[in-house]
Amino acid sequence: MDKKHIKKFGLTLPRLGYGCMRFPTNDNKIDFAASEELINYAYNHGLNYFDTAYNYHNEESEVFLGKVLADFKRESYFLTSKLPVWKVKETADVERFFNEQLKKCNTNYFDFYLLHSLNQKTIKIVEKYNLYDFLAEKKQEGKIKNIGFSFHDSNEVLQKFASAHKWDFAQLQINYWDWNENDGKSLYETLEKLDLPCFVMEPVRGGFLSSFAPNVTKHFKDYNKDTSVASWALRWVASLPNVTIILSGMSNMEQLKDNIATFTDLKPINNDEQRIISTVIKDLRKINAVPCTGCRYCMDCQYGVDIPEIFEIYNDYKKTENKTLAANSYFMLDEKERVGSCMKCGECMKKCPQHILIPDELEKIHNEMLQIIKNN
Ligand code: SF4
Ligand code: SF4
Repeated sequence: MDKKHIKKFGLTLPRLGYGCMRFPTNDNKIDFAASEELINYAYNHGLNYFDTAYNYHNEESEVFLGKVLADFKRESYFLTSKLPVWKVKETADVERFFNEQLKKCNTNYFDFYLLHSLNQKTIKIVEKYNLYDFLAEKKQEGKIKNIGFSFHDSNEVLQKFASAHKWDFAQLQINYWDWNENDGKSLYETLEKLDLPCFVMEPVRGGFLSSFAPNVTKHFKDYNKDTSVASWALRWVASLPNVTIILSGMSNMEQLKDNIATFTDLKPINNDEQRIISTVIKDLRKINAVPCTGCRYCMDCQYGVDIPEIFEIYNDYKKTENKTLAANSYFMLDEKERVGSCMKCGECMKKCPQHILIPDELEKIHNEMLQIIKNN
């Protein structure tokens, strides 16, 4: 596993970090045995950075990690968690959440701790409850080693917020699709200017950049038949000089092994490969997918709609053009999980970091699926 020494932290970190929001599940609960096997394999192959959060896996991820990591010496791994800023309703909540997280993670300190999912709206909560001061205080007490925030908003908001306090790092959604299609490049450059190490989330955009239709995949395979589509996205991000750690939410052994191989003797993207990626981006522009990363922050919908599942079915369809599979998968969902249950309450949109107009997109997809059935 390739590592990088970060002078600012005085630490050597693995380039790949384990994102703990996409473990294998059974009946919506973390499959303990299968997930433990993944963590053990990762740790034994030098991947010793674990990134969790209060809300991951319906608030189970921290508890799971607390149990599994207890087998390892605390100083032999890096543990990161995040404050659920949007849940803070009064001052006392902050200390309560933080202490609860330490307890769930079975630790008395976090190596890295972030204010989670900041945007213009949640920044108001940060200011109202002086959350920066809280983090700085915990750092002084030694309960947090490094403080940062994860962010989903415009560059203008980032510039103002990041320069207002003394942060150790920030976490951004960076990948070759968001670089120019969204604000990725300008957000990254802001951190670079502020000399803030960039931790990366969604390097393969929730799986969007890990599989394509055969005609798109061909661009990669013609150049190198042996490497996975996902490895191109990971190497692209790792080639950016201010990127410190790249998080991947690995759900099975195949993904984990492939990612570890990518990050062992890591090769930066060369000019020929960059040209191939630009061609793939042009192809992807044509398919007009929903920009959903599958993060599930919008869940649960109180009316039962399975928003991420519907978007995944749709995006797979747009990438593969397999109409029958898409319509079958959609209509195999429970009736209450389909778009017909959506009451357009808008609650999901308030929680979506990608700012997707969820009810509108759902309706569009439903109509398209009906049309496929009609034409068949
Ligand atoms: S807008 Fe529709 S999908 Fe979103 S939370 Fe409300 S009912 Fe659920
Ligand atoms: S719709 Fe938004 S919040 Fe829901 S899974 Fe997709 S990106 Fe995440």
